[in-house]
Order: sequence, then structure tokens, then C-alpha cells
Amino acid sequence: MSILVRKGNINNMDLLCTRCGEPWEYDYVQHEFTAEARKKFLTGLGCDACQGKPAPEQTYAMAMATVLMDISGDDLDCVAAELQDLGLT
Ligand SMILES: [Zn+2]
Repeated sequence: MSILVRKGNINNMDLLCTRCGEPWEYDYVQHEFTAEARKKFLTGLGCDACQGKPAPEQTYAMAMATVLMDISGDDLDCVAAELQDLGLT
């Protein structure tokens, strides 16, 4: 799973890898990731930065992102807004 970080509008938001915390631009994830990489990223299996490496200790933001993705499904805008409201972005 991943989380979105709001910077102003959807095109400027970042997604955070919930496995390693690496930030990725929303547009990059949506348009430059391969379908397989995007699926792994969005389902919490990691990103190109952490594939094949041990997962670091989970941060609070990563844990919250996981929960928000579980309850929000594919609604990444909702995840971004909730994270911003929680002061995590
Ligand atoms: Zn990662």
C-alpha cells in the first residue's frame, strides 16, 4: 500500500511507499510505473527502492497509510486528505 501526500493539487501529490517510506510523485506512479510495479506499490509489496531489500522499521506515517488504504480502497484522494488532516503531510 502507499499513501499520498498533498502538496496542492493531485498532480503535485506524493505517494509514500508503505514498506519503506520512499516518496514517489503521484503522476510518476500513475504513468511511469509499469502495471506490475504500480500494483506492487499500491498493494504494499514495495517500490523499486526497496524491492529485494529488508523492510525498514515501520514509521507512524507508514502505519497510518496502511490503515487509510485499507479503509479507502482505491480512493487515493481520500487518503491524501486524511493524511493532511492528521498532520502527517
Ligand atoms: Zn519502497
